[in-house]
Amino acid sequence: MIAITKNIENIPASLIDKAREKAFLENKKAKKYVSNLAYKTKDVQSKLIEIYHNKCAYCEKNLDDTDKNIEHYRPKSIYYWLSFSWDNLLFCCAQCNRKKSNKFAIKGVKQEIDDFELLKFIDFQTISKELDEKEQPLLVNPERENQVFFDDTILFQLIGEKTGYVTSLNERVQYTIDSCDLNRKELVQKRLLILNDLKNIINRQKIMFDKKKDISELISFLSLLKQIEIEKINQNREFIALRKTIIANFVKLVKNIE
Ligand SMILES: [Zn+2]
Repeated sequence: MIAITKNIENIPASLIDKAREKAFLENKKAKKYVSNLAYKTKDVQSKLIEIYHNKCAYCEKNLDDTDKNIEHYRPKSIYYWLSFSWDNLLFCCAQCNRKKSNKFAIKGVKQEIDDFELLKFIDFQTISKELDEKEQPLLVNPERENQVFFDDTILFQLIGEKTGYVTSLNERVQYTIDSCDLNRKELVQKRLLILNDLKNIINRQKIMFDKKKDISELISFLSLLKQIEIEKINQNREFIALRKTIIANFVKLVKNIE
């Protein structure tokens, strides 16, 4: 996971049109989500693709060649009144979406639509901040945290038996890892590919070094390699959190490669 910057004031037009307002009122009356996928509009999807650089909010996988899901941070099965709320709509892969499902543990007080009797339809577009303060959800919302939070809390295993796994000492991050199953085989394998590519390059250079025994050559190669890895971190790349961990632990990683 990485921090995502979304302008919540820049609401896609379809979310606040008459059809959505009607569906919102139907949900409100039924006290459950009864609309038929009415949040999956073109402008919502294209805006989310742009904001998320076409990557999953939770696992950071690129979604060019796979299903793109518009996901409700607060599940629409529970929070039917937030089905069309711009700040409740995230972008994610089908696997994370399915695993997360309607999991949404909170430490604070559960809010109901009746708590907001005076609010109009449009007011529910940007209500996350207020809800988060009252409910204190465990699930991490990448749109509501800054990058320092992720840098400080996400731990990737770079060596040892669990290489490629992600963990955290932070309760909320660990809850998110568990809820979305971020250590599923598919993701661990993708992380291992990134790690192994790098390890192979370093290894080859080490073998060359053993033949030539020119330490300065090895050092300049490794610093160049580290620079290349840093340059790989741009918004469009997948698995940025892992790449950042690799760079932060570059020396340790090099030492551990046999
Ligand atoms: Zn995902």
